Amino acid sequence: MTTETTATPALDVLRRVFGYDAFRGEQAAIIDTVIGGGDALVLMPTGGGKSLCYQIPALVRPGTGVVVSPLIALMQDQVDALAALGVRAAFLNSTLSFEERREVERAFEAGELDLLYLAPEGLRTRATVELLDRGTIALFAIDEAHCVSQWGHDFRPDYLELSMLHQRWPSVPRIALTATATAATRAEIAHRLDLEGARHFVSSFDRPNITYRIVPKDRPERQLLDLVRTEHPGDAGIVYCLSRASVEKVAAMLVENGVDALPYHAGLPAQVRATNQSRFLREDGLVMVATIAFGMGIDKPDVRFVAHLDLPKSVEGYYQETGRAGRDGLPSTAWLAYGLADVVQQRRMIETSDGDAAHRRNLNQHLDAMLALCETVECRRAQLLAYFGQEHPGACGSCDTCLAPPEVWDGTVAAQKVLSTVLRLARERGQSFGVGQVVDILLGRDTEKVRRFRHHELSVYGVGADLAEGEWRAVVRQLLAQGLLTVEGEYSTLVLTEASGEVLARQREVRMRHEPARPARAAKAKKAAVAADLAPEDAALFEALRAWRAGEAKAQGKPAYIVFGDATLRGIATARPASPEALAQVSGVGENKLERYGEAVLAVVAGQ
Ligand code: ADP
Ligand code: ZN
Repeated sequence: MTTETTATPALDVLRRVFGYDAFRGEQAAIIDTVIGGGDALVLMPTGGGKSLCYQIPALVRPGTGVVVSPLIALMQDQVDALAALGVRAAFLNSTLSFEERREVERAFEAGELDLLYLAPEGLRTRATVELLDRGTIALFAIDEAHCVSQWGHDFRPDYLELSMLHQRWPSVPRIALTATATAATRAEIAHRLDLEGARHFVSSFDRPNITYRIVPKDRPERQLLDLVRTEHPGDAGIVYCLSRASVEKVAAMLVENGVDALPYHAGLPAQVRATNQSRFLREDGLVMVATIAFGMGIDKPDVRFVAHLDLPKSVEGYYQETGRAGRDGLPSTAWLAYGLADVVQQRRMIETSDGDAAHRRNLNQHLDAMLALCETVECRRAQLLAYFGQEHPGACGSCDTCLAPPEVWDGTVAAQKVLSTVLRLARERGQSFGVGQVVDILLGRDTEKVRRFRHHELSVYGVGADLAEGEWRAVVRQLLAQGLLTVEGEYSTLVLTEASGEVLARQREVRMRHEPARPARAAKAKKAAVAADLAPEDAALFEALRAWRAGEAKAQGKPAYIVFGDATLRGIATARPASPEALAQVSGVGENKLERYGEAVLAVVAGQ
């Protein structure tokens, strides 16, 4: 590429094609490595800017960048987004007709493509390998590289074959990218993809624009509706639920209450799933209610909130799911409602799961880490990053424990009361009961079940009058979370663990979290609605630009963000450019988009 400035070719492409001023974080070093012919293994959080790390070298190096991606359903959107920037991109996968495939092959052989997207299974066919031999390959990018990990939930057997790339084309640089953060996954990727000699680039996994909140569950559907109405009206969001049934129920509840919501889970017909996904990507402000089957590779940049109505099974899962919020860097919310029933349910699911003791131990460890995050009184962000082996000074100012610090209290005596009730039921009666009955005994309630089992005769009957029912449930929840109590059997009855004895013998203190009287709700949490902090006139212009964009996207049948992202529209609304030159200064306005939309955008600005 020729340039009339003194910038490096990579920086020149960043400015002209993408319309951005500067590289972020490690992007420059990664791009230099690959342009220089070196291999790279890139770990960067969602929204960190991984795509540019292979797109720019593909544009600078001679030949076509070949991108291996498991996300067939999203390839069309990726190619469209590049086309909107004036980049020549295409894909080969099973969805193409014979003629379409022939045309892509011809363009590749003729050197007319900057980027070619392939599904991993494509590389197993001789025809594809021979096709690649007939063109010039600038680089191989292996996207979602954690799919090679046999222990991860996204494992794709075809990824294991990708080490052949190096054997067959040893001089072509390779770059593997993932947002999965643990050191174990990274080692496995390096090993299985034959990338041990590659330079490793591990970015900070902090997502400063996401506010983390974990709230006690209390009528969760109300809480969700409240979140959407007061903090995210009209915003795009994802709501995760554990079961298909709850996905359907919550989606229906939102729709009944006037929120545009769609369901997504593996039990829906493929056609419905595809339509719902496509609507979520294309329309503004839809809420997707989904199981974790939804989300990998969804690079919709303006998802403003991710809500969990059920407890994720691991911190990795939680981080990946919440990471889908705010890829555009604008303020976003990660919100989780969590309660006693979640702990009971998850412990029980592990207890009854297939697999051996080692497998169950592994699941329990993952759950323990997730529970520790829920129950922490420290900064959630610091705790999250520590889990991924990264340090953070804490006091981030944008998680609930920083915004409204919970109190810590000495719960040792309360813990002893619960544990000795469980102990007495077992020792004196040979019984075990669920949390409801244990709390009734502690509170000294006169219920039919108490009388039937003569529980009013136990010495612990009524010893817990000092706390309210909700407080006792919080105590039991924290005992379960800390492994000082566990559940067993079909009715999830409470039973002691080895560690319970230490508490009963007064050898161990139990510190507990006291929910703040006024949780970090809208009151203190930053308002995340995307235009909330704009001056009224700018907000009006932003809305006018959004309306223009919606019409443009609809006419093209493309997602709105392919026209311009929210961050760029905000930039235009605050800069109010009056000339094409001024518009070109706004981040995200590259040459191609300036030419295509410049006039229309300037007209919208002038009209406000
Ligand atoms: P990832 O694949 O790591 O999740 P993306 O590549 O989708 O992230 O980038 C996230 C967003 O950040 C995109 O909207 C992208 O255009 C934008 N972006 C990436 N790099 C830069 C940069 N250097 N300057 C400004 N915006 C950037
Ligand atoms: Zn914090």
